[in-house]
Amino acid sequence: MNQTTIKTSCMLNKGAGLHSGQKTTLYFHPAPADHGIVFFRSDKNVNIPATYRYARPSALCTTIEHQGVQVSTIEHLMSVCNGLGIDNLLVELDAEEVPIMDGSGLEFYRMLKKAGIRQLDVPKKIIEIHHPISYQQDDITIYITPSNNSNFTFSIDFDHEQIGQQEYSFVLTEKNYLNEIVEAKTFGFKKDYDAHKKQGLIKGGNETNAIILNEAGDFDNPEVLTWLNEPNLHKILDQVGDFYLADNLRIKGAIFSHKSGHSSHLAFIRYMMTECTHQFSIVEER
Ligand SMILES: [Zn+2]
Repeated sequence: MNQTTIKTSCMLNKGAGLHSGQKTTLYFHPAPADHGIVFFRSDKNVNIPATYRYARPSALCTTIEHQGVQVSTIEHLMSVCNGLGIDNLLVELDAEEVPIMDGSGLEFYRMLKKAGIRQLDVPKKIIEIHHPISYQQDDITIYITPSNNSNFTFSIDFDHEQIGQQEYSFVLTEKNYLNEIVEAKTFGFKKDYDAHKKQGLIKGGNETNAIILNEAGDFDNPEVLTWLNEPNLHKILDQVGDFYLADNLRIKGAIFSHKSGHSSHLAFIRYMMTECTHQFSIVEER
């Protein structure tokens, strides 16, 4: 397999950021081999590579920063890049947040597929796990073991009647990503949603781009649901994106996660890439 980029530049018009509410147009441009996924803030003239080296811990989203300039909420777009196997891409925007669109990865997926995927003449590299790597932080567990494919098993445990304890396993291929993950919308609890709205933390959030779980134990807006276990699927969508911060290399391994989120994903990837370098190799994908 060779590295890929998109065939032609394309744009997504005027979407609002979930947290800032600020509207911006995203431009996607082809990029050469070994360029990686890079965000370009055109209003500040700063490039920010989407890797763990530039990522900042954040509870609500995944943020990258360089020279004091940030881009936040990159995780759904990063997830689609990993899902589609796009190794190289330049993403241009003039605001500090990637638009939330419908709360899933679907519109990024459609746009990048429409632009077309082009093979470059340099081999694709992946991370191959040789020995288990595990990480624990309070009640959060993440570990990886060797495997013949890239697969994610995610378990959640929320005190809510519609969710409770759930687990889902997913093998990362483009077909499975399209069928099982890309449409899974972000979700939140109504009490947090109301509090965040009041504090101005989710100016671009509304009843159409987030699944809202109410105190009665129901979905507050069931009309936006595609699947009953959609919150669990969205956790995998987020993780597929956050784990692409590992130098934009897909991980060949079995990934198990319990109750993890953006900040623990980043902590795990940073730990793996800096302290566990004997447990994996970076190899050409066969
Ligand atoms: Zn998300």
